[in-house]
Amino acid sequence: MRRRFNGFMPLSGRTPRSRSRDHMQATVGQVVKSGVAWAGWRIPSPTVGNPVILLYHGTPRKSPAGRLDESSFARQIQFLKRHFELIAPSDFGAQRSGGRTRVLLTFDDGFRNNFEVARPILCEHDAPAMFFVSSRHSQPGKYLWFAYLRALEDFYPEPAVTFRGSTFSLRGEARRPSIERLKNILLTLRPHPTAMYEAIENELPALEDWMTPEQINDSCAGMDAGQVCDLAQDPLFTVGGHTTDHPFLGRCTEVEMRRQIDENKSWLERASGHTITEFAYPSGDYDSSVISACKEFGFGRGYAVIPAARPAGSYELGRIGVYSTSLDVVGFLVRWGSVLRALRVPMG
Ligand SMILES: [Zn+2]
Repeated sequence: MRRRFNGFMPLSGRTPRSRSRDHMQATVGQVVKSGVAWAGWRIPSPTVGNPVILLYHGTPRKSPAGRLDESSFARQIQFLKRHFELIAPSDFGAQRSGGRTRVLLTFDDGFRNNFEVARPILCEHDAPAMFFVSSRHSQPGKYLWFAYLRALEDFYPEPAVTFRGSTFSLRGEARRPSIERLKNILLTLRPHPTAMYEAIENELPALEDWMTPEQINDSCAGMDAGQVCDLAQDPLFTVGGHTTDHPFLGRCTEVEMRRQIDENKSWLERASGHTITEFAYPSGDYDSSVISACKEFGFGRGYAVIPAARPAGSYELGRIGVYSTSLDVVGFLVRWGSVLRALRVPMG
């Protein structure tokens, strides 16, 4: 296996590194409660002129308590628009025009809720954004592996799920650790990610058996080709690559890693009619061979989570994940995220 620069899980994923992210979120949450962040985001930070790149994932209409939903997302965009300068990727290299911190909004994975829920809100506030789209879930009945696991955790009505002779209790406190254990087993299956998807589709309960079409549409389904095309046609928005199946690229063979990047780019270009030049590493997982492949396939920039290189170049742009519904936390991350990142504090 190639050496990975770093691994960072999406919203639902929880690795040791993402536990440190969780810890940081908890810390930021505690800071906010103490009032420091409440005041902190109102004080100008000594950030350099580089824009702050925020990373969102799904934007469902409804979410379990404490997670981003339509109304909390709308409040955040209104808040960001009011206090910061929202920029497009094409403004990225431009000099700052005023004193406001510049913010680039990015959305990973290409969930349908980005099109149906986030897009109208962004349009209302004239907020530019970039969407990194995995193509697997553009097909009906196909889901990204972590969306499946999150749905299992959030919606599966049975007290347990079994997989290859092991039982995973979903009762009370056992629910989250069980899903975590199942996830870790799925991620060890080889070849990655094919064996993992075969196991999900052939050996685990089908989402359609225990979720309503509305729930699936709101929280699991991906954008179809027509929606990707509509997004790409809008001058406010940019579509970028995010692989076909959202694997950990460091767990793929070289051939599979390249196929994941190349086929997704081709699909997006067919769907959108645009050349795709921006790429986000799924789960922030990349190495030098992934960067080389991205350059070779014609991507001009790569978006990471935590950049490995210091200083990070245009193929290792760092981003700050937004996992909180709190406006104070978002404001704090925009103001101080670059400072904390420069100090190598993991933030998601
Ligand atoms: Zn992703």
